[in-house]
Amino acid sequence: MKAMVLNRPNTPLEWTDLPDRQPGPGEIRVKVLACGVCRTDLHVLDGELPNPRSPIIPGHEIVGRIDAVGPGVAGVALGERVGIPWLGHTCGVCPYCRGRRENLCDAPLFTGYTRDGGFATATIADARFAFPLGEIGDDVALAPLLCAGLIGWRALTLAGAGARLGLYGFGAAAHILAQVARWQGREVFAFTRPGDASTQAFALGLGATWAGGSDEPPPVPLDAAIIFATVGDLVPLALRAVRKGGRVVCAGIHMSDIPAFPYAALWEERQLVSVANLTRQDGLDFLKLAPRIGIVTKTTVYPLEQANQALADLRAGRFEGAAVLRP
Ligand SMILES: [Zn+2]
Ligand SMILES: [Zn+2]
Repeated sequence: MKAMVLNRPNTPLEWTDLPDRQPGPGEIRVKVLACGVCRTDLHVLDGELPNPRSPIIPGHEIVGRIDAVGPGVAGVALGERVGIPWLGHTCGVCPYCRGRRENLCDAPLFTGYTRDGGFATATIADARFAFPLGEIGDDVALAPLLCAGLIGWRALTLAGAGARLGLYGFGAAAHILAQVARWQGREVFAFTRPGDASTQAFALGLGATWAGGSDEPPPVPLDAAIIFATVGDLVPLALRAVRKGGRVVCAGIHMSDIPAFPYAALWEERQLVSVANLTRQDGLDFLKLAPRIGIVTKTTVYPLEQANQALADLRAGRFEGAAVLRP
């Protein structure tokens, strides 16, 4: 197999020949058809997440086909198309796993961070953490649903059922979430980097009621806001944009420091929460709903060997929507 390997944080990925791997007990081997590029991959590259493992193959929005099955795996078929998400393994016995909050497991493995991911021609996954994808939908179009869609879905659930939803940072996750929220009958208010007219136009094209810079107040108070951008300065801004009792959800795995802000911004029962990872139930719920919503993902495709270019373009905001690698 071939892979784009991160040998050390803060170095480019290297195109590497590796011996084919065999799936162990409970595992499947998947031939990768497409793998999305996520902002979390940049945090892995930059060594911003705790306890990094290297070398590591990044990538946690994997669409592939099972081409080998390890001992003890039941209920999957060779050739079946599956999606492999960020949550790669949980212990099953910690209080969080037993309390139906496996997203907070004490001993998890994460695809493309602490176990090898999908910037490769093949990958090995824990069979219990692969979602059946069926045959409807294009491999590339489905890939961004596996993280941007799933984590976005969990964030949307945490944001509550309010009708007016703000989205700070209109990238891969928000462009999917905007479609889900519109389908649910909500109004979407999109906040971009100040002056980013093309992303604001992109948001309006996806049905946003309003789009503006993150330094602007929305035209009406919001019921909830989700922050996808990794910028701590947005937290007080979003708190000021929500009504009394409103909620702000931080959906990123990493964020720059949040500046001090007056207590008045939190007063009147405003809530500030973060969302971490996903549960398998989130994935099943969302992937069942996605075809009914008719989500259209905007993707920019790169050959696998050009993963470094895709990551650089993501960092610089050079495309709308999501980047997807194809082996
Ligand atoms: Zn656990
Ligand atoms: Zn991700």
